[in-house]
Amino acid sequence: MPTNAVRVAVMPGDGIGVEVTEAAAFVLEKLVRRHGLGLATETLSAGAFAYRDTGTAMSEAVFRQAEAADAILLGAMGWPGIRYPDGTEIAPQIELRMRLGLYAGVRPIRALPGVPLALADPRAAKMDFVILRESTEGLFWARGRGEVIEDREARDTMVITRATTERLSRFAFRLAERRAERLRRPQKVTLVDKANVFTSMAFMRRIFDEVARDFPQIPAGHHYVDAMALDLVRRPWDFDVLPMENMYGDILSDLAAGLIGGMGYAPSADIGDTHAVFQPSHGTGPDIAGKGVANPTAMLLSAALMLDWLGTRGAGQAWCDAAAELEAAVDAAFAAGLRTAEFGGSGTRDVVQAVAAQLPAVG
Ligand code: ATP
Repeated sequence: MPTNAVRVAVMPGDGIGVEVTEAAAFVLEKLVRRHGLGLATETLSAGAFAYRDTGTAMSEAVFRQAEAADAILLGAMGWPGIRYPDGTEIAPQIELRMRLGLYAGVRPIRALPGVPLALADPRAAKMDFVILRESTEGLFWARGRGEVIEDREARDTMVITRATTERLSRFAFRLAERRAERLRRPQKVTLVDKANVFTSMAFMRRIFDEVARDFPQIPAGHHYVDAMALDLVRRPWDFDVLPMENMYGDILSDLAAGLIGGMGYAPSADIGDTHAVFQPSHGTGPDIAGKGVANPTAMLLSAALMLDWLGTRGAGQAWCDAAAELEAAVDAAFAAGLRTAEFGGSGTRDVVQAVAAQLPAVG
């Protein structure tokens, strides 16, 4: 192992998380050889089955190893039949987001050439936007803190802080700048909120507007979350970068994944100031786990996000090049007619082979 290697903690997790992680490892290995990347991976055990087997979903030792890595590549965690004694789900991935301060949940939604889309309008093929889900506070702040008062009423509190909203807003504008450069077309940032009803949302909007003034070259706007649900179906091709509160992001990112073929096509990155976790937006797919049919595309695109993030964080241009090649290989495979199992096509292994076949040969 090279001493200056970039260290990636791999957390396959449960169910199809394990299957798509294997798929990503196969493709990453090819890219590592082709670009001579100094990548050192370490596989860590966490999730529902780890809880069942050891009594701990993510041990402190595992958390420390993940924290010490340069990036974390995660499959998916949780399982219907395995729960904490109080009945709640086992989700150490949420704990990672909270403990590592991963406030920016980046969920790129891009129509892949040739993948069947939910919308018949031909403009849907041009969809390319990013849901930016705040991932450490918002309504999810209430997780584990909700209260039931005398069996009469229940309360979950939404928390919006100035510090996190400023960081999220700045992240949104910088992301828009980067996309404008890369896609060679102007980008705008649209805050999704409910500022007409909630004090917390009006506060979020005010802070977003303050930050927007520092980026005068990028148009900034707002959209109510209910109207955004409508417009993501009516005209999703009109949007670029969409920052929003945690729960709104949770809901709208599933809606958005539905627009581009389903959960199997939706990658994500949870990014903080010092750490980042890359994982597909989908869960552990208990209904399809073990059948070899999980679509690995979301995971492959998440791995590409990771390579690019590492490249821009100092690992070097070769990592960004590898990311671009992986994305291009995914596009090329689908453009050539590849179909995944959700659409009556190939299983995990064949999809990965088809994508790998589109990578340039090792030099
Ligand atoms: P979570 O609550 O963790 O998001 P979930 O079970 O509610 O988990 P998913 O695991 O994302 O949700 O699954 C939703 C549906 O999408 C299921 O029918 C599942 O089989 C399907 N699905 C999810 N990921 C994939 C994938 N990679 N390939 C094919 N189908 C998938």
